[in-house]
Amino acid sequence: MEYHDSIEKSAEYLRLALPLMTRQAAALHPVSYAVWYEYVAGVNPALRQRIDALTQDDRVLDEPAVRQLYRDHIAEIDETVAQRVSQDFEKVMASISATTAQAADEAGSFGQALERWSADIAAGKFTTTLSHGIADLLRYSRDMQQTVRALNEHLDASRREVEALQQEVRRARAEALIDGLTGLANRRSFDIALAQCLAASAPDQPGPSLLIADIDHFKRINDNYGHLFGDKVIRSIATILRDNIKGKDLAARYGGEEFVVVLPETPLDGARSIAEKLRRVVENCRIRRIGSDETVANLTISLGVACRLPGESDQQLIARADAALYRSKQQGRNRVTLAAVCA
Ligand code: GH3
Ligand code: MG
Ligand code: MG
Repeated sequence: MEYHDSIEKSAEYLRLALPLMTRQAAALHPVSYAVWYEYVAGVNPALRQRIDALTQDDRVLDEPAVRQLYRDHIAEIDETVAQRVSQDFEKVMASISATTAQAADEAGSFGQALERWSADIAAGKFTTTLSHGIADLLRYSRDMQQTVRALNEHLDASRREVEALQQEVRRARAEALIDGLTGLANRRSFDIALAQCLAASAPDQPGPSLLIADIDHFKRINDNYGHLFGDKVIRSIATILRDNIKGKDLAARYGGEEFVVVLPETPLDGARSIAEKLRRVVENCRIRRIGSDETVANLTISLGVACRLPGESDQQLIARADAALYRSKQQGRNRVTLAAVCA
């Protein structure tokens, strides 16, 4: 999930999240914070529901439970990246607290020396001569200055390190949502986008609509021209999809040689036109073979189109679009079929 909260808003979430987070039997690391941040921000209803169920009757979450919630409900970062980021984060925090503790110790000694000295002055007696006292204070003061300087340097280095870690988390998150072969959104990201789109759509507005597209006889393409060329075809179809949708529409690779397009605020008729246009562009494209000037034509896709019915879930919508795609295949491929009202 992308976070766009203002500094003020996120500070408020931090204040709300900290007590909840510290109440659990899990370590305080970024993974844990992400879970509680999304919980208090109210941006992840499924996560919230599960935490509410798990923490009923004052039960607390342990480390595996927090990590499981993270995996299930927040963008899936590669486990090793998450672990490394969290270990690095802990190191940074440990080093900050070590330096802070040293500064506190030295401030304590300085304070004690001052108190001793002022008590001696008040009592009119000196355990050391005045010049010794001043020398002591100067030494403590220099030590303090040095420690504060070191603390500042540490804080600066730590801030840079935390920024680098944050960037790494952002990159890992983005990668976890992108299909490596085509650069389109992957299935996971499609699932999230569709759920958000359905949740945001007003009942009196048309759409969202969903297209599912599948390359026809793709196995033959692999068999005739090789797997690498097959990959190139998948990439080319992905580019066609990306270039022929706009605005809030989202194209994703659903798996193998199947694609989906989410069209928010688009009625069935509009979705059918887009599907038909995509079908025609693919039908007319030619793809150059690898290492030769020869081009391959007659590539086609079949599509199924469905527009969400009132109260329909994401799974029901996908099932109806998929059934329509199946009919396109049965009726000879290279065609668009509109979903029936019941799958
Ligand atoms: P249909 O028209 O009924 O869809 O027939 P098809 O041959 O396209 O469908 P089928 O499901 O029989 O075969 C799909 C093939 O796609 C099988 C699989 O090896 C291939 N495939 C899946 N993912 C990839 C990929 O990433 N790259 C390549 N080159 N091939 C893939
Ligand atoms: Mg298929
Ligand atoms: Mg196919």
